[in-house]
Amino acid sequence: MKTPKIVKTRAELKAAIAAANPGSLGFVPTMGALHRGHASLFKAARAENELVVISVFVNELQFNDASDYATYPRQLDADVQLAAAAGVDLVFAPDASEIYHAGLPLVKLSSGALGEMYEGASRPGHFDGMLAVVAKLLHLTDPRRGEYRAYFGQKDAQQLMLIRRMVADLDYPVELRAVPIVRSPKGLALSSRNALLSEEEKEAALVLHRSIQLVADRAAHNEPLYIEDAIGMYQMAPLVELDYFAVVDPDTLQELAFNCQDTPFTGEGLILVAAKVGNVRLIDNQPI
Ligand code: AMP
Repeated sequence: MKTPKIVKTRAELKAAIAAANPGSLGFVPTMGALHRGHASLFKAARAENELVVISVFVNELQFNDASDYATYPRQLDADVQLAAAAGVDLVFAPDASEIYHAGLPLVKLSSGALGEMYEGASRPGHFDGMLAVVAKLLHLTDPRRGEYRAYFGQKDAQQLMLIRRMVADLDYPVELRAVPIVRSPKGLALSSRNALLSEEEKEAALVLHRSIQLVADRAAHNEPLYIEDAIGMYQMAPLVELDYFAVVDPDTLQELAFNCQDTPFTGEGLILVAAKVGNVRLIDNQPI
């Protein structure tokens, strides 16, 4: 197992990419506290690129809640070990001053209407802050020649949609790859924030996946979805406070009309859920 090279500055990053002079580069941005979900992105990148670069950067701009930012888990040494096992070549772990070298952005990207729904409605400014850093990281890791791919998890479905739009709308010369959600054996979508849950909360958090499964099974059998049954499951989950549970159009995030929810399901949809378990906000989703 090879230890990845760790670089802290944009100059070192640029020099390391230039020295490797790869015919293809796969990039995976992360906020660290890495788990098997991240590893599956790294492996997907490893499978089709000569050089695999990841970033570990907790981007303050995308946190609308100061205590969420303060308590977000940070563990670079363990992250480097996980990255090594997944075949990563280069870890870019900058300080905030290196990313926001000209100060906080004055000229901003706007995620538009899509960024104000669901996660954006509950976390104002989150998606604009996320796009700000992803845009920069895509420039900083662009090999300038050869193939260039970036990998994102389907776990963050709305984020992935917005990054697709940014890349299309602003003509970023990068190929995007979406990687399926990795779950715990009991079905909990892996997330860095799961480390903040007690054992009891982890058990309670399984309601997210169970409620999704209820509706997804009905969709698979072309039955009416009756999502109120899924929502009802949260009334019996004392540690869990539901934010939203919705079945939406996967392209627009508009909620499916009620006549699509209470008649036999035939089309396409995306189930989206967000809930607070204790103090920890969790999200999950599934295409149907
Ligand atoms: P984060 O470190 O939470 O910003 O996530 C970095 C990348 O890993 C994002 O593209 C996430 O969608 C992806 N990711 C996080 N958790 C999972 C998971 N359980 N399965 C698949 N991808 C994930």
